Amino acid sequence: MVLERQWESAKSPKPLVARQLPVPEPGPDQVLVRVAACAVCRTDLHVVDGDLAEPKLPLVLGHEIVGRVETVGARVADLAPGDRVGVPWLGWTCGECRYCRSGRENLCESARFTGYHLDGGYAEYTVADHRFAFPLPESYGDAEAAPLLCAGLIGYRTLRLADESIPGGARRLGIYGFGAAAHLIAQVAVHQGRTVYAFTRPGDEAGQRFAYDCGAAWAGGSDQAPPEELDAALIFAPVGALVPEALRHLVKGGVVVSGGIHMSDIPSFPYRDLWEERVIRSVANLTREDARRFLEIAPQVPVRTHTKTYRLEEANRALDDLRAGRLEGAAVLVIDRR
Ligand SMILES: [Zn+2]
Ligand SMILES: [Zn+2]
Repeated sequence: MVLERQWESAKSPKPLVARQLPVPEPGPDQVLVRVAACAVCRTDLHVVDGDLAEPKLPLVLGHEIVGRVETVGARVADLAPGDRVGVPWLGWTCGECRYCRSGRENLCESARFTGYHLDGGYAEYTVADHRFAFPLPESYGDAEAAPLLCAGLIGYRTLRLADESIPGGARRLGIYGFGAAAHLIAQVAVHQGRTVYAFTRPGDEAGQRFAYDCGAAWAGGSDQAPPEELDAALIFAPVGALVPEALRHLVKGGVVVSGGIHMSDIPSFPYRDLWEERVIRSVANLTREDARRFLEIAPQVPVRTHTKTYRLEEANRALDDLRAGRLEGAAVLVIDRR
């Protein structure tokens, strides 16, 4: 399913078209992956809509890929045909820039991202650099594992950055936007003994029930105040107005972390809401270390993924359901071969 051009203003109901493409050839450091499932991420919508500039075009979207290695390139020794791997958003880094050399490859100057600069997993086959493909916990089925690869990883990094700001870690967590990332990281947070307060769109009772199912101690609308002040607020909805809203509910020294790659503008707010050492920060991408750590933690919790599956040729419908907020959990394309 191919994106041939971005849609700056008109939100097309069918931005992707089915095309017959040649099976890609893996380079020396790559593996050819036969795709089994690929989850649908909000970032895919941002690429479709033109919020993220200059993608490879035409492009195969998709960066939460689960599949099996079919063939390996000449320099690949750690993977073999038949191995199951997960391929995430971070597709390649240079290893040489100031960010790569300081353990921040997520900020690499010349990083290449799956389903953005590189063809991704809305397809029957894809290629991936073996250094950026991960073995997956065996307890997960293919479709179940797919959302771990972005929603899970980004959720995990968002929580990790919140903890960096709070001595002893963030115990009282607010989570704004209870979708794919939130439902996974909420389970991890509850497992770790934290208290989770979930914020949905005002009046979204189904979303609030879903949050309770994932272990939240309280769920309400984003216009409501939580029962107690928050150490940290994680924001997964692409809505800038939630930043000053969440900031008002923080303890002194508390932190708002925005997990999204794109957000509407943040309205102005009084300095007193930020004062007393409150912090606002963002998350960009992920490191391989995040992936290894989260994929180790997920089966221990165990994190359960809530998925709605679609056939590959229904990718446009999956994107549309995500845009309209019709999903609980994550949309996953399942590649069936006839
Ligand atoms: Zn780099
Ligand atoms: Zn993503």
